[in-house]
Amino acid sequence: MQTPLDVLQHTFGYPSFRGQQEAIIDTLIAGEDALVLMPTGGGKSLCYQIPTLLRPGVGVVISPLIALMQDQVDALNELGVRAGFLNSTLSMEQVRATEQALLSNELDLLYVAPERLLQGRTLSLLESAPLALFAIDEAHCVAQWGHDFRADYLRLDILQQRFPQVPRIALTATADVRTRQEIVTRLGLEQARQFVAGFDRPNIQYRIQLKDNPRQQLLQFLRAEHAQQSGIVYCLSRNKVEQTAQWLCQQGFNALPYHAGLPAALRATHQSRFLREEEIVMVATIAFGMGIDKPDVRFVAHLDLPKSIEAYYQETGRAGRDGEPATALLLYGLEDVVKLRQMMSSSEGAEAFKRQEQQRLTAMLGLCEVTSCRRQVLLRYFGDILETPCGNCDTCLSPPETWDASEAVRKALSCVYRTGQRFGANHLIDVLRGSTAERILALGHDRLSTYGIGRDLSAGEWRSILRQLVAAGYLDVDPEGYGGLRLTERCRPVLRGEQAVLLRREVKAPAARASVRRALEEIPEEELGLWQALRACRKRLADEHGVPPYVIFHDATLRAMLEQKPVEPRQLLAISGVGDTKLERFGEAFLDVIREFEYESL
Ligand code: ADP
Ligand code: ZN
Repeated sequence: MQTPLDVLQHTFGYPSFRGQQEAIIDTLIAGEDALVLMPTGGGKSLCYQIPTLLRPGVGVVISPLIALMQDQVDALNELGVRAGFLNSTLSMEQVRATEQALLSNELDLLYVAPERLLQGRTLSLLESAPLALFAIDEAHCVAQWGHDFRADYLRLDILQQRFPQVPRIALTATADVRTRQEIVTRLGLEQARQFVAGFDRPNIQYRIQLKDNPRQQLLQFLRAEHAQQSGIVYCLSRNKVEQTAQWLCQQGFNALPYHAGLPAALRATHQSRFLREEEIVMVATIAFGMGIDKPDVRFVAHLDLPKSIEAYYQETGRAGRDGEPATALLLYGLEDVVKLRQMMSSSEGAEAFKRQEQQRLTAMLGLCEVTSCRRQVLLRYFGDILETPCGNCDTCLSPPETWDASEAVRKALSCVYRTGQRFGANHLIDVLRGSTAERILALGHDRLSTYGIGRDLSAGEWRSILRQLVAAGYLDVDPEGYGGLRLTERCRPVLRGEQAVLLRREVKAPAARASVRRALEEIPEEELGLWQALRACRKRLADEHGVPPYVIFHDATLRAMLEQKPVEPRQLLAISGVGDTKLERFGEAFLDVIREFEYESL
C-alpha cells in the first residue's frame, strides 16, 4: 500500500511535504471534507492530487480557469498521471472521448468548468463513475461581492446533495475572513476541517520607490537584476502599455503588450508566448494575470500605483510561485495619487462604495510611505502578524531616514490655505519658492504671506513633502478640481504647533544595490556553458512535447543538476523535482548533457 509520501517522492519527485499539505491529504484520504486557505505558490494542487491518486475512482477538479486546463492536464501527463478536462473549448468528439475514458476507469483526474459540471449530462455521467473526491478550486468565486464572483459557483452545493459520500476540498488564496465564511455556508462545508496558512510570501522582495525617471528606473532594474528573465510590468492605461512595450523592445528586451483592447487572438498568442518562451517581459494592464500560474515569473513591476493593497498583493503574488527569489517593484508619485483619487470620485457608483475605495487607496499610500518593514504592514492588513521585521524588503535592507519636518509642513499647509485650497502641487511649490512666473503674479500670489517662505528647500523636496502629506491624510485631493489640494481635519494640531510631523527623507539613489539580494543567484562563469546547455535541452524537450519549459523541469531542478552534476539515473532521481516518470522520459537527455560537459572538463 502506497503512502502519501511515496506518491510525493515517486510521482512528483519532491523529497518532503510543505506546511500543512500532509494533514490536508490525510483528511481527504479519511473521507472528510477540507477548506484550505493557502497563499499562491503554497502548493495547493498536491493537496487534492495526492489523495486522488490514493483513493479509488477519479478526482473531479472544478475550476473557472478554462484557459489553464490544457496546461494543467499536460503537466500531469508528463508526471505519468492520467488526466483530462471537460469545458467549452472541446469539440463534441473530444468530449465523448474524455467521457469514455472516465467510464472505463482510465482517468485519475478530471478538470471541469463549473457551468459544464452543472449540466445534467455531466452530473449523470459522474453518478455512473466511481469518484475519489471533488476539489473546488478558486473557491472565493462564490463570494458575491468579490471581484471574481461566478454565479455557477453558488450552485455547487448540489455536490453535497447528489454525492454525499464523496469528500470535498475547497481551496483559495484569498485571505479575508468574510470570504472564508461565505465559502463555508455557500458550499455547505460546516463540517469541513479548516486549514489556514499564513499569507506571507517570503521569497518575494517588496520594494517601493519614488517615481523619478520611471523608464530609466525600470531599465536599470531589469538590466541589473532581471536580465533574461520572465516578468510582468503593470501599467494603468492601455496607451502606456503599448508605449512601454515598444520602448522596452527598442532597449533589447522581448516585451509584449497585453490589454483588453487588443484582439482576442493576439492576446491569446501573447499569453501563450509568455508561458512557453523564457525571458518574456509582459507589459500589461490588470486585465492580465488571473489564473496565470507560470511558476518562474521572477519580477512584477508596477509603473503606476495599484488602487488597493488587495490588488497590489494579488498582482505581486504572481511572482515567484516556485519559491525562488523574486522581486516586486512599485514606482509611484504624487500624480498617481491625484489621478486615482479623481478617477474614483468621478466614477459611477454609490457614495458608500466610493468612500470604501478611497479608504483602500489611503491604506495603499500608507504602505508606500512606511518607514518600517513593508511586509509587516502588508500582512497586518490581512490580519497576519509578523513578529519581527522581514529583512527582505527595501525598508529592512536600507532603512529610510526620517526628519522632523514640522516647520516645513506648517509652511506647506499655510500655503495651501492662503491660496484658497484649489491649487495643485506645482503651483504651491512655485508660491513657496517665490517663483516669478506669469501665473503667480497674475493671481496676486506673490503678495501672500507664504510667498517665498520655502526657498530653503528644493522643488523636489517640496514635492516629496506634499506627497507624504497626502499619503498621511493631512491633505486630500479636490475631487471636482484639477488636482487641487485641500486641508483635512488632521491638520489642526499641526498648524497650531501642537504636533510634530516626521517625514521620510528622500534618498536620491534607490536602495543600495549591494544590500539587495539578487533575484537569482549568479551562475559562476565557468558553469555558464553547462547551464545554457541544460536550458537548451529543456527547451527542446518542451517544444517536442508541446508544453512550457517549466513543465519539463523547474529552474530550481536545473540548478540542482548544475551543482550536483549527476551522471547516473540514481543520482538524478535524488534531485527535487525528478520523479519516476520524468526520469524515464527525460533522464537520459539531461544525463547526456552533463556527461558531455564532465568529459570535456577532464
Ligand atoms: P498554488 O496552487 O497554491 O499556487 P501550486 O500547487 O501550483 O501552488 O504549487 C506551487 C509550486 O510548488 C508548484 O510548482 C509545485 O510543484 C511546488 N510544490 C508544491 N508542493 C511542494 C513540495 N512539497 N515540495 C516541493 N515543491 C512543491
Ligand atoms: Zn521588511
